[in-house]
Formats: sequence, C-alpha cells, structure tokens
Amino acid sequence: MPCEVKPRFVVLYGSQKGQAESLAEGLAEVAEEHGLAAELSCLNHNEKYNLETENAPVVFIVSTTGDGEPPDNALQFVKRIKEKTLSPDHYKHLCYALLALGDTNYANFCNCGKTIERRLQELGAKQFYATGYADDGTGLEVVVEPWIEGLWKAIKGALSKMASDKTAFLKGQAADSPGGTPDSTIPNVQLNLLRITDHENRESIKAPAEPASKSATAASSSAPGTHAAVSDLRPAVPTGSSVLASQSPGASTASTSAPETPTGDDGRPRASPAAALTCSLPPLSESSLNVPALPPPYLDVSLQEAEPVEQVAGPPNTEALGAAPVCRAVQLTRGESVKTALLLELDVSAHPMVTYHPGDSFDVFCPNRAAEVEEALHRLGLSDQRNHRVHISLRKDTKKKGAQVPSYSSQNISLLYLLTWCLEIRSVPKKALLRALVEHTGHSGQRRRLQELCSRQGSADYNLYVRDCGLSVPELLAAFPSCSPPLSLLIEHLPKLQPRPYSAASSCLRHPGKLRFVFNVVEFPECSGRPAGRRGLCTGWLFDLINPALLFPGKDESSGSPAPPKIHVSLRPNRSFRPPSDLSAPFIMVGPGTGVAPFIGFLQQREQQRKDNPKAVFGETWLFFGCRHRDGDFLFREELEGFVSSGTLSHLKVCFSRDDHEEGEAAASSARPRYVQHNLLLAGRRVADILLRRNGYLYVCGDAKNMAKDVNNALMEMIQTELQVDQLEAMKTLAALREEKRYLQDIWG
Ligand code: FAD
Repeated sequence: MPCEVKPRFVVLYGSQKGQAESLAEGLAEVAEEHGLAAELSCLNHNEKYNLETENAPVVFIVSTTGDGEPPDNALQFVKRIKEKTLSPDHYKHLCYALLALGDTNYANFCNCGKTIERRLQELGAKQFYATGYADDGTGLEVVVEPWIEGLWKAIKGALSKMASDKTAFLKGQAADSPGGTPDSTIPNVQLNLLRITDHENRESIKAPAEPASKSATAASSSAPGTHAAVSDLRPAVPTGSSVLASQSPGASTASTSAPETPTGDDGRPRASPAAALTCSLPPLSESSLNVPALPPPYLDVSLQEAEPVEQVAGPPNTEALGAAPVCRAVQLTRGESVKTALLLELDVSAHPMVTYHPGDSFDVFCPNRAAEVEEALHRLGLSDQRNHRVHISLRKDTKKKGAQVPSYSSQNISLLYLLTWCLEIRSVPKKALLRALVEHTGHSGQRRRLQELCSRQGSADYNLYVRDCGLSVPELLAAFPSCSPPLSLLIEHLPKLQPRPYSAASSCLRHPGKLRFVFNVVEFPECSGRPAGRRGLCTGWLFDLINPALLFPGKDESSGSPAPPKIHVSLRPNRSFRPPSDLSAPFIMVGPGTGVAPFIGFLQQREQQRKDNPKAVFGETWLFFGCRHRDGDFLFREELEGFVSSGTLSHLKVCFSRDDHEEGEAAASSARPRYVQHNLLLAGRRVADILLRRNGYLYVCGDAKNMAKDVNNALMEMIQTELQVDQLEAMKTLAALREEKRYLQDIWG
C-alpha cells in the first residue's frame, strides 16, 4: 500500500496555565481522524516553525494573562511581530485562524489574541476562519467546542484554496515563461488537494450506528471532531434518571448495562431523585452522547523501592526559594458575616525577598493536604509504596502530539513527595480527564454519568456540578467509588501544583527585613459531591499553620508557638504596578477588601519619602476602599486613618455594602454609595481632572470577578460625562490611559 501523505497544518499555542496548550494538543491529536497532519509547537519554540516561509494553514491558540499580557511562552513571539521594521506584506503568504482565550472579568479581554490578530493582519496575513473569543468567565467551552468543530472544514477549505491559487499562479507563470523551472512545491500542493477530496468523500459515508453495548472508546476513535458522534451511548433504560448505586472503592463490574434503578428498603423503586453530580435526569439521562475522543496515554510510570525513607520537606527547588519564618499573624476581621482576613508578617531579613517594592507580589508554595494525599494513595492502592521512587518516561508508542514528561519528573522524587508537592490534586477535573476516567470505572451507572459530564449534551451539568462549584479531583473520585485510575493517568492529567501569589502589603522602608501580606480564607461551601464545605488549598493551609499563633486585634502579642512556622516564598516583581516615580504626580487607588494590600505598601513608602524629602512637592493621593461592615472588615482602618492625619493620604473614601443603618446625609438618600465604583462616580469630576488634565494615575487592585469591571464601567461613565463624548470615545480615552500605563490593574479571580 502506498504511504498516505496527509495535508499538513500548523498549530501554535501560547499558554500560561496550560488551557491553550491542552486545546492545541487536543487538536493535534484528532487531526489524523480528519485526514490531516498537525505540526504542534509552542510559540516560543521558534526553531520548530517558520512563519516567514510557511505555506500551510496556521492555527493559533493563545490565552491572555495578568493585565492583558501575553503568556510567558508567547512573549518573544509577540515582541517579534510587533517590530516596526516589518513590512506590510511580511506575512502576505500566511493563512491563519485564531482562537483567543480570555476572561471578561478582566478589562483586557483576550488582549493577547487580539494583539496577534491585529499584527498578523497589518502584516498581510489572511484569515481563513473567524476568530473565536472564548470567555473563561462564562465557560470556555461555549465558544471553544463549536469553534473547533467548524475548524476542520475551514482548514480543508483553506488548503484547497491555497492549492488552487498556487496552481493558477504557476499556470500563469508557465504561460509567461515556457522555459521556466516549475516550483518544487507543486507536487506537494497537488497531493494535498487530492487527499482532502478523498477524505471528504470518505467522511460523507456515514457508518451505521454501533450496537448499544459497544464502548465509547471504539466509537470515539472513528468519529470526526474532538467529539465523537456517538449514537451508542444511550442508557438501556428508556426513561428515568441515570443514578449511581454506591459501591466500595476499587470495585469493578465490567457490565455496560443501564444504571440500576434505585430502590428503597422495601425493595420498591424509589421516586426519581433530583439531579446531582452523580445523577442525571431526562432528557440528558436518555440522550445520545457526543463524548470527546479518548486522550491517548503518553506516560510510563513505575515505582521502585528506595532507601532511606524520604521526608516530605518542601517544594521542588527549595534551595533556590528559601524559607521565611512567620513572625506575626493577625486576624483583621471579626464577626460571622464577613470573610476571614488574616495578615501575616514574614521575616525576610535573610531572604532574597528582602528588597521587594510596593506593587510586587510573591509566590507562596503550599503542599496538598496530608489527608487528601493519604486518600489518593489509598485510592490508587499504593499506600504501602508511598516512599518508593517514581520513574516517569514517555511511552514509545504514544499517539499524543508534543508529549513531554512533566518537569518535576527529572528529580529523584518519592510517590509521597509527588502527591504532596508536585501535582495539583485539588484541580477541577477537565472534560478530558473525565473522559479518561470512564475507562477505569467499573460500575455502568457511574461510567454513563462520567460520559454525560464530558459530553457535549452534558455541558450544563458539567458547568453546574463540576466547574462552577470548583469540584476537586479527590471529591470527584469520592463520588464515583468504582473509578480506580492508575497513577500514570493522574500524572498525565493533573497540572503541576502552582504556588499562590499574594500582594506585598508593606514597604520595606517602613518595615525593614519584614514582608506583610493579607488574604481572605477561601471557603468552598458544600454542594453536590462535597458533603461538607472546605477551605482553599493555600489559604486553608496558612490558616492551619498559623492558627495556634493567631493574634486577634486587641489581644496582646503572646509568645504564641515555640518555633515560628516557616513558609517558602519567592518574589514576583511587578514593574508597572508601582507608585509614580514622579512624586508630584497625583494618583488614585481603588482597592476594596484585600485589594487594599498593595496600597498599604504604596502609602508606607510615601510616608517615608515625605519624611526623607521634606521640601519635595507631593501629588495628592486618593484611596477608594470598600467592605461589608464598618465594624467587621474595615481592613487597616487605624493605619489608613493615620495616613489621612499625617497628610500622606489626601482623600479616603470608604463604603460599606451591608451596613443598612449608615448615619449622615448619604445614608438618608437612596443613592448611598455601596461599592467603590459609586464613590468613584460621586468624586467623578475630581477623579477625571486628575486623570485627564493633570497627568495622574489610577490603580485598581482586588477581585476580578465583578469589581474591576464595575470600576471600568464607572470610569467610562465618568469620562463620557466630563468630556461630553460618546461611549466609543470614552473607551478610546481609557485605552490610551492604559497604553500610557496610567490606568493599571492588579486583579485576581
Ligand atoms: P484554591 O484552592 O486555589 O481555590 C481558589 C480557586 O477556586 C479560585 O480559582 C477561585 O476562583 C475558585 N473558587 C473560590 N471559591 C469558590 C467557590 N465557592 N466555588 C467555586 N470556585 C471557587 N489573594 C488575597 O487574598 N490577597 C492578595 O493580596 C492576593 N494577591 C494576588 C496577587 C496576584 C498577582 C494574584 C494572581 C492573585 C492574588 N491573590 C490574592 C489570590 C491568591 O493567589 C489565591 O488565588 C487565593 O488566596 C486562593 O488560594 P487558595 O489556594 O486558598 O484557593
């Protein structure tokens, strides 16, 4: 049989947290099913691709990070294409499609994708498929899934067009110069065209439906798209809900029959239960399902006995990080109706972080919870091998494109260490993981429910029961007791455990050798699949770590614990979110809740500068702060009022969203400001004056979910009123302020 050469296309990704990367990998994996050959590369591996000469369609998948910045591994690429020396026809030959990932909770939605697209077009590249803008705020899959589904046809269309353009061009050339040498690419281009036509013919012949008992794997590998068109994943019961029967961990029944009908103690069928993580209702429970293709396994993992027993000491690269003792811990809030906010002070006098700047953040490295690690060991059946060394290598026969062993695997680590410090075992399971777990689930009802949750038809259930409530992998496994994945599968699918960043809430001018930060203890309430609420990983860990030493406001600093706990931290410098270097420039800070943290550092530094430069002219400073209750969570109240008394802070505007009995005029009026944006609007004229006429700065820090967007909208409204312009003009003005780095955000979700 002659070897079939599939038409090629290029997939390039720029990814910060791995989402864009895994989408790009998914594309590359299923390309063959569409009769195409994908060449996958990360944007910063520019030795692996060459856009300057590329004549195949190029698909970009890029996310955006921080304040609209490109992900780290796309930075160099973006810099290169932004070079002003490139001519307008630099990418005239290039044919591209782009999928941009972003989050509308942040002001610069999909900014990296938009920047790349703008530059590609300015440089003459042609788009062959409409750009997708996927929003993590509402669920990436809403855009991603249809976008990918339509992509295959678009790539083939682009290939055909490129081939016919080339042929026409060459025919013209041949007519012009009969003796000329034909372009060496002709045979390839023609071959591409031929294959596409063949493949399209093949796809149009529909395979007959598979029998109802066949597994999803078989069906998925033959179907087009990232979703296999699976008509055989219908439960055998015609009506009713798909329900789990409880089963002991590890139990494995190979049957693929319909889920059991639940019965009561008397053996009679129970009334239909409500839908839940483990249980669906019609129409989903009766629906045919389109499930994603099975992600190809790509790692070989083995365990080897090792001596001596290793202690779980700290994160990877501990030497480079250095540990800092916690020298002070204070609870800043009181009462039940507010989130618990804690302030920690670290002794960094012997740490590289000793010279941080206001506006900088730093990473805190935290381990997974011991109880969850134990549970995972138990579930994997590897409790006795916890101290064995883990060997991870690539499977020789893997079909996964661009497969790589995880970076931590080069280190000599034990299984216990891997689960404690390397894998984000708390991560929210992606659909690809759910799909892979199906293969390791014994109980038929549980298998069906996992298939539903990763299927296109089950998207709403996935969002409701998995994504929106932040369900973790241990919680999922607890809810699906017959699912027993191998260790290699968890290593393949779980991201690397990430450190958590926190903003410095101090200035080292005021507190030499010390670093303070403030955080809310994240609470995940109970939900379907989570019988009891739990805390966030890092904030829960910090809370437990310092709880014995916690000093409450008004309580004397006691000796606390005998030896202060230490935590591993490293600096994340922020070169733009800094107080203006020109001391006379006025600036405005908007930081409700823990968003006030960096501004405490700004103001401490300013206070010190005022002492050190008594003759200098200092611009006015404004702080907009908001919280729920004046007496519950007015963070840093005394310190802020002190800044006002000393003249360091010119204006402090505070609002309380849940104090219903505010005194004074404002409270009497129905327009009492509840949120920072309301106070901003009340001071609109002066804020606008600072920003638009006096070259001032505006900084926003804190919650990305609503606050940053609401503040942005308030600024738009203010600009429209002050400059008497329409919305579009106001947007342009704000964009210009961003460009000049006079409107800066440091926000987190
Ligand atoms: P995780 O276990 O990681 O859980 C948090 C995740 O779950 C988040 O993605 C969140 O969206 C989601 N989530 C939270 N609650 C729920 C819920 N009920 N249901 C579903 N999902 C939920 N935080 C501060 O408190 N103070 C700071 O100064 C600060 N500075 C930051 C600076 C930067 C540059 C960044 C990027 C973040 C900053 N953060 C700050 C956030 C901080 O890094 C952590 O994300 C936060 O403390 C939670 O960590 P965790 O491990 O406890 O929670």
